[in-house]
Amino acid sequence: MAKLSVLGSINVDHVMQVSAAPCGGQTIEAKHYQIVAGGKGANQAVAAAKLGADVAMIGCVGSDAIGEQMKRGLADVGINIDGITTIADENTGLAMIYVEDSGENRIGIWPGANGALTEAVLAEHQGTIEASELLLLQLETPIQTLVTAAKVAKSAGVKVVLNPAPAKALPEELLRHVDTITPNESEAELLTGIAINELSDAGLAANHLHSQFGIEMVLITLGKRGVWLSHKGEGMHIAGFTVDAVDTTAAGDTFNGGFVTALLEGKSALEAVRFGQAAAALSVTRMGAQSSIPTRSEALTLLL
Ligand code: ADP
Repeated sequence: MAKLSVLGSINVDHVMQVSAAPCGGQTIEAKHYQIVAGGKGANQAVAAAKLGADVAMIGCVGSDAIGEQMKRGLADVGINIDGITTIADENTGLAMIYVEDSGENRIGIWPGANGALTEAVLAEHQGTIEASELLLLQLETPIQTLVTAAKVAKSAGVKVVLNPAPAKALPEELLRHVDTITPNESEAELLTGIAINELSDAGLAANHLHSQFGIEMVLITLGKRGVWLSHKGEGMHIAGFTVDAVDTTAAGDTFNGGFVTALLEGKSALEAVRFGQAAAALSVTRMGAQSSIPTRSEALTLLL
């Protein structure tokens, strides 16, 4: 049985490189087009697997050819895909992404099969969560299912780590069943109402999440500034690695995958943050999402 369960989205990303995204009524020809595997759930599962964790994925794909391809891609990196349900007459979730020369992204998402990750589907894979040591969640699948999954995990003594991305308001019922939360700056602001400008703001936001929802550990990721780590109100700043960033897509996903992998190996929260940061820093030096995630030995080398 896998030590890590990742419950979340599986997407296919259609990425077009354009000089500028088309305006209303305009048609433009892209310079480059690529179909890549994505979805925050799948990205984090792949990151954890590449970085050394034993992972089981719970999610949904559509009954289309791309869904099978996405499942094969996850299995190829050693992820247990028994928890991936194929939804009849539904598309695999997808994102249409324009990347402009300026680096600006414009993204439209169709949740497709991800929207069918209902509590009934979850019930079929409850045993996978209960047999694991840690459950990793994000917000691209129905929220009520996340609430139930977190409750299942808590009552089985399984740690729950929530990456509250993409940013959205959340029911208190979910936040109350989370052991560790890993928002970036804008997600932390949305959840707490505190804008993160100075490091001291991260401390205030973390304290809000501790006191309002009883969350034991808060990690606010601060892009190239690193991470604010707060355990039961004891906060510290952990600077990131300095690298030449070319594409920050999936930095957060790589960080989360690396962080939970190290925690499951019995590392301290500080060591786990450093490992996640090393992996994420390497990922931003490369183009792409899953394709930019480094191997375990690459991440360990950066830590030396
Ligand atoms: P998200 O991708 O979810 O918005 P962040 O931008 O905060 O999350 O990035 C997550 C982590 O990735 C950061 O805490 C940091 O460790 C690493 N990271 C992100 N951007 C950079 C960068 N430009 N240089 C080095 N590390 C980075």
